[in-house]
Amino acid sequence: MTAEAQTITEDILQTERLDHGLLNIPLAKRGNIDAQIDRYVAEQRKAKQKEHSESFHRIRDQKKRVQDILSKIGDFRVMEIAKPLGCRNPSSARKALYQAALSNLSKWIAVLERESIPAGGCASCWAPVGKCQHGASEWLGEV
Ligand SMILES: [Zn+2]
Repeated sequence: MTAEAQTITEDILQTERLDHGLLNIPLAKRGNIDAQIDRYVAEQRKAKQKEHSESFHRIRDQKKRVQDILSKIGDFRVMEIAKPLGCRNPSSARKALYQAALSNLSKWIAVLERESIPAGGCASCWAPVGKCQHGASEWLGEV
């Protein structure tokens, strides 16, 4: 019996409050119990795998969400947010912010979702009035 099965056996013994009589059952009759334990171990493993798969999918979706949001935030604003990370251009700023977001995806998503074009700001790069070189049509987000 593996250590894992041993632990689970102890769990079962406790959970089902089986008396010591169980331990005195001849090995031949324990086949049934061993089969139950095997099934239990398999079920536990399956549940764990399902849980892992769910968190895998959730994390993958969150990473995608961060990338989507970062791609929508204008270059000017992205550079502004990433200033402490010392990025030279919007592309490296987005990459650096993405890396930083991996530390706490939920929190970063919540924060990044609050980002918006400043009132009267440039629709292309999200710069406040007078802070970028975009022309009138770009400013209005028509390009
Ligand atoms: Zn602009």
